[in-house]
Amino acid sequence: MKYQSSRGEYKSISAANAVKMGIAPDGGLFVPDFIPFLKPQDIADMQHQDYQTRACTVMSYYLDDFTANEITNCVYSAYNHAAFDHAAIAPLHQIDNKTFIQELWHGPTLAFKDMALQILPHLLTYSARKTNESGEILILVATSGDTGKAALAGFQDVPGTKIVVFYPREGVSQIQKRQMITQEGSNVFVAAVEGNFDDAQSGVKQIFADQQFISDLAQKGLRMSSANSINWGRLLPQIVYYISAYADLCADNHIKAGDSINVVVPTGNFGNILAAFYASRMGIPIHKLICASNANNVLTEFIRSGHYDRNREFHRTISPSMDILISSNLERLLYEMTGHDAEKVGQWMEDLNNQGSYQVDEAVLQKIQHLFWADYSSDRETMDAIKQVWEKHHYLLDTHTAVAWCVYRRYAELSGDLTPTIIASTASPFKFAPSVAEALLGADALQGKNEFEILTLLSQYTGIEIPAAIRELEQKPILHQTSTSRDDMKTTVTKLIFGDCPRKSV
Ligand SMILES: *Cc1c(COP(=O)(O)O)cnc(C)c1O
Repeated sequence: MKYQSSRGEYKSISAANAVKMGIAPDGGLFVPDFIPFLKPQDIADMQHQDYQTRACTVMSYYLDDFTANEITNCVYSAYNHAAFDHAAIAPLHQIDNKTFIQELWHGPTLAFKDMALQILPHLLTYSARKTNESGEILILVATSGDTGKAALAGFQDVPGTKIVVFYPREGVSQIQKRQMITQEGSNVFVAAVEGNFDDAQSGVKQIFADQQFISDLAQKGLRMSSANSINWGRLLPQIVYYISAYADLCADNHIKAGDSINVVVPTGNFGNILAAFYASRMGIPIHKLICASNANNVLTEFIRSGHYDRNREFHRTISPSMDILISSNLERLLYEMTGHDAEKVGQWMEDLNNQGSYQVDEAVLQKIQHLFWADYSSDRETMDAIKQVWEKHHYLLDTHTAVAWCVYRRYAELSGDLTPTIIASTASPFKFAPSVAEALLGADALQGKNEFEILTLLSQYTGIEIPAAIRELEQKPILHQTSTSRDDMKTTVTKLIFGDCPRKSV
């Protein structure tokens, strides 16, 4: 299988090259030249297999330049019992006879980003080796919270890699900051940037565009790369869990092989839901793919009207990982829905770049609406859902999953559709404890309490144990105290990765 750019200006390359490069030189995203179709026997066999075996099957379709052994090594290095606290890796929780929640947050950082970022470093190091890259890989990340920690945890002590994460000094939660500055590993570095997320992000972009710096690093045997969510190596592992969920539903006799399901995804950058789209194209019968947004409802408008418009107010919500106005992975969907019309896609992306909006044609819109349905929920509705679901079903939703819940309820009411439905749950409720506790107990109950005290309060009230990854944070030693101005980020990278006493003294 070959990969090409969604903008059409770059030659076909192997999977290993697509993973190594991350983004195409013409600004496009790498896309497979066809979507493989699972044999009915594959799905039948999967019912009796564990997650890892299913992952090997699905990924081998797309990584045909990897040996079976290489894929197996990647899969077992990522999805194992040291990293994941649930044997099923991505278990289903049944709410009622047609609603199932797929918990994608049993990895080391308690959010679904682990599903991809635990395996990406292994895919990346194999890809580098297969394409005769001799040096080490240096990953740079700017994070507004979750991605940074998930990337650190994924790359921790992976031979042949180094990672530097920049987080904005203003703008990450107390727990998110703790998670990063206590990160262990001989190859990981963390620095606070004076400023907000945009400062950190633009600083990293500037480093990626600095040709002199890139060649200086190359002389020292380092190749810069990104763990960004547009890398094919992040998308591919996400296809696996939707197929796995379908196999689980069949295995537990909730459905028969061939029956349709709905999938609901709380969406930001459009990566997670796009993976469900690929799963449907691979033969998983998905009736409706439901795209749930928060007040940043650019995708709701797009799926309803075909008009994508980022010229709108940006809202900070209680589901911060979905506070996004440019959903980069949508480009891959457009590529598929236009029948690989790279010229059209390129034009829309240019419109987005120049005027902040684009309009797709009627034929493309109809194809999208045939599969997708979209809506959004406000913070108030999201809070109410957390409380109601706890009281009615004794199940604790995080703020992102609660957005999906609200949107699914509305869909079910409006459509009367009784198709069995999987709701993708993207984070542990303890990861967003202040908002979840406020939903259950009211704001007054949290007065004067810090985030760690709120964790305890939430655990006592619900009787659910605080996940170990968060519980241990308060006691962990702080290993990273570097801070930098936006203008000094490049120097900071050099000092961190080549310095004598790098972590604390920059
Ligand atoms: C990243 C993230 C999302 C959004 O996923 P996309 O792939 O960007 O659409 C939703 N919920 C949580 C908790 C996340 O971390």
